[in-house]
Parts: sequence; structure tokens; C-alpha cells
Amino acid sequence: ASPASATGNGRKARVNSPLRTGLFIDGKWRSNSKKFDVMNPADGSLAARVSAGGESDVDDAVQAARRALAGEWAEVPGARRAALLNRLADLVERDADTLARLEALDIGKPVGQPAAFDVPNAIATFRHFAGWADKIQGTTVPTAGYQGRPTHSYTVREPIGVIGAIIPWNTPLMIAAWKLGPALAAGNTVVVKPAEDAPLSILHLAGLIEEAGFPPGVVNVVPGFGDVVGAALVRHPGVDKISFTGSPEVGREIQKAAADTFKRVTLELGGKSPQIVLEDADVEAAVQGIAMGLFFNQGEVCAAGTRILVHRSRYERVVSLLADVAKAQVVGDPLDPDTTMGALISRGHLDRVLSYIERGKAEGARLVAGGGRPSTKGYFVEPTIFADVRNDSAIAREEIFGPVGAVMPFDDVDEAVRIANETEYGLAATIWTRDVSLAHTVARRVRVGTVWVNGWAAIDPALPWGGMKASGIGRELGWSGILASTEEKVVTVVL
Ligand code: NAD
Repeated sequence: ASPASATGNGRKARVNSPLRTGLFIDGKWRSNSKKFDVMNPADGSLAARVSAGGESDVDDAVQAARRALAGEWAEVPGARRAALLNRLADLVERDADTLARLEALDIGKPVGQPAAFDVPNAIATFRHFAGWADKIQGTTVPTAGYQGRPTHSYTVREPIGVIGAIIPWNTPLMIAAWKLGPALAAGNTVVVKPAEDAPLSILHLAGLIEEAGFPPGVVNVVPGFGDVVGAALVRHPGVDKISFTGSPEVGREIQKAAADTFKRVTLELGGKSPQIVLEDADVEAAVQGIAMGLFFNQGEVCAAGTRILVHRSRYERVVSLLADVAKAQVVGDPLDPDTTMGALISRGHLDRVLSYIERGKAEGARLVAGGGRPSTKGYFVEPTIFADVRNDSAIAREEIFGPVGAVMPFDDVDEAVRIANETEYGLAATIWTRDVSLAHTVARRVRVGTVWVNGWAAIDPALPWGGMKASGIGRELGWSGILASTEEKVVTVVL
């Protein structure tokens, strides 16, 4: 391995670990002369220069993954795959502090968040799938027989083969774990493509995969650009499945391109998730949860609860409490433990979020908190709340992927459900109520992959994750993650 040098402004010293900036292919590190810059969103400085993968690197990685699939890895029993995944979980736990700091440096999120959420979730995911690795069973199926003779039929679940895992920048370590855990438990091999804006934690993870003792080629990591590395993976005939998390626009392109080679595809895409405050809700608790759903990870969360639907009797109270919570956020240095909201990923994304805020104002929504930049240094934006938003306006329909909430009133449960479902997305919904029956009734009626009652983002590696409508196709995590990582084969013996 070649822990390459990092440039930067001194922040790298606070990561306490040499940055990995190469490509990890067939168990070896390589460096390309072509590099791309990874910026520190907190001040716009250069955080690292990372080798940019090309089409030939993707080909090398896929060939290595195919060799591993046909070689030693195919004979590794489930119990041994479990041991490797548990060892990897232990190594992530050992390096938890480094990984949390890498996420803060690379993405701009407050370091306490990856320390409390992303990294523990990645560890739990590897442990969960270690648990499945030796329990991936088929069934025996009673059948009617064949030409008068009895038959014995059974199913087996086999690995799909080489999986291309394409990762977004917002929670890279956690989403890499979501893709690697089930894929490796089920005996697949993987080529990981980190996002060009945030590759550092996944490159560190590649070092831990090497240290854990996975055979060469079982996991390969090729950093680089989406239209080069990502597109080459999607085209490559040696890749059997693409597991993609990212934007609906790229997801659509991937699904089309993958059709040429009949690749299996899982898409985890965007959202515009509602948070519904019913008449009987505990408003104070709801506001705390809603604020988390808006400002956690600077709102750069697929399941961000950005449409806040409030019963008219509680509406003004929720608006005013939410404005207070927004103004109380501590926006600043992601590596300062007191910071509650960090910087957006890039200058371009900052401009995009600011342009949505301008559209919100132009559309006539009532700005009750934020709306500007707290400083001109770094890519920070103020926690922003709009009230009196129309559900057909741009800020209610389009994924902003920033800390911008749109609050709107409703008069009865039917109207709340109608507004909640009036969106092209269907990832998640949160319901705030103390009425158990109503909670289940509304949960049944919203068209989303996940419903939370009285809490936002109560996720767990045991629970299937994925979206309806434009939020995606397929599920990952839990037993569903194993199903999505295997092909079912039927064997019938004519007795
Ligand atoms: P993006 O679609 O721009 O990029 C995602 C990944 O795809 C990156 O690695 C990128 O390099 C790659 N890519 C880009 N063009 C490609 C191409 N033509 N072929 C193959 N790969 C290509 O998304 P992003 O900006 O990194 O992430 C934000 C989006 O991700 C948001 O829409 C968010 O909601 C979504 N997201 C969804 C989930 C979920 O679980 N549903 C989780 C996190 C993020």
C-alpha cells in the first residue's frame, strides 16, 4: 500500500492518519499521474489530490473481481466470510475516530455526526451481514412429479457475481458498507466507485479491507469521475449488477445503459420526504425531530424530511418553534465539537441551494429563518425555514439537498395524506402523533419505502431500505439485501 501524500492547510494533521489517495485493485495500491482535487468544504482549500481512475483501471478491477470470483473466494465458506466481515467491523471500530474526521474534512459535516451515526452504522452493517453469511439458505419445494415419476426439487441462492457499487458523496462510508456488507456476505466480488467529491473515507476503508485479509480482487476501489469510471463500470460486460445510490437523473441513465448487458440494477435515489404533524402530536418533541430531519448532515440526506405538513391547529406554533431551532443551530467548523451544522459539499452545490432559496422567496413563501450565508468563507448556508409553502412550488417539489424546510398546513388527515403523496418521490415519511391507530392508518396510506412514527431516520441494518416511485428500484439491507445480492437457482432431480 502506498499512503500517498496529502496537500492541505494543516487540517490533515487533525485527521491523524496518512490519507490514501490511490486506486486499490487486485489487492494492490496504484497511483495514476492524472489526479483530481478533493476540496475541504469548510474553507474551500485543497484537502487531497486523488488518482483519477480511467477505463483501463475499471477493466483491470473488473478482471481482478472476476478472477477472485472464480478462484479462492468461491471456495470460502459462509462462516469464513462472516469472520472476515466481523474483522472488518472491528477495524472500522478501531479507526472510528479517523473515519469520522475524514468524513468531516471531506464532506463538511460536523464531526460528531459521523462519530455518532455514519461510522457506528457502518460497523453495525458489517456485523449484521456477517451474521447472514452462513445462513443464506434455499428451500425444498414439493412438486407434482415428471412423466409419472417423483421429483426432488430445491433452490439455492448463489452470488450474482461482480457487483459495481456506485456511491454518492453525502454519506460515503455508510453507503459503501450498505453495498459491501450484503454483497460480500453472499459471496460476490465488488468494484467500488466512490464519489469524486468525497472519496477519502472509502479509500481508508479499502486499507482496512486489505488488513482484514480479504483475498485480492474481492473488493476493488476505483476513484474517479462518474462519466468515466462510473459509466465504464455500467457498460462493462464483466459486471453482473450495478448497485447505485445517487440522483434520479444519473439513476435513470444507469438503468438504460445497464439494459444493454442485462445487468441487475438496484437504485437508491432522491427524496422529498414529508414529516406529518397530526393534531394530537407532542409538538415540542416533533419540532426537535423535524429539525434533525432538516439540518442533520446539512440537509444533504436522501431521506431528509423537507416537507413539513402540520395540522392547522398546531401550525403557527410549529412554525415559530422551528424558526427558533433553526436560528439556534451552530453553523461552523466541522471539526469543532460544538458545531451542529457544517458546510455544503461544494461551491456549485452551495449556489444551487441558494438559488432554491431565491425561488422560494420569489414563489411567495414566508421566510421565517435563515435564507443567507453566515460567512463568505467556505460553502456554508444558514438553516432555512419557509412557511406557507404551496406543494406545487419548486421548493416543495424538487430535491434541494440542503438545510431548507418547507412548512405547509392541512385541515384533516385525508388532506395530509394527499399532500404527502403528491410528489414524484417515495423514499420515507415521518408521522408525529400519539394516536396509535391513526399512526398505522397514515403509515398504510403513504406511498414510501419507510415510515417512521415519532422519530426521524430510525434506520437499522436489519431493515430493508429503498424507495417507491422516483426514489428508486429494489431494496438493500436486511434479508432483502441478501436477496438483492443473490440469484435463485432451482435444481430438480427426476427420481
Ligand atoms: P450523483 O447521481 O451525481 O452521483 C452519484 C454517483 O454516481 C457518484 O459516484 C458519481 O460519480 C456517479 N456518476 C455520475 N454520473 C455517472 C454516470 N453517467 N454513470 C455512472 N456513474 C455516474 O449523486 P450525488 O450528488 O453524489 O448524491 C446526491 C443524490 O444521492 C441525491 O439525489 C440523494 O437523494 C441521493 N442519495 C440517495 C440515497 C438513498 O439511499 N436513497 C442515499 C444518499 C444519497
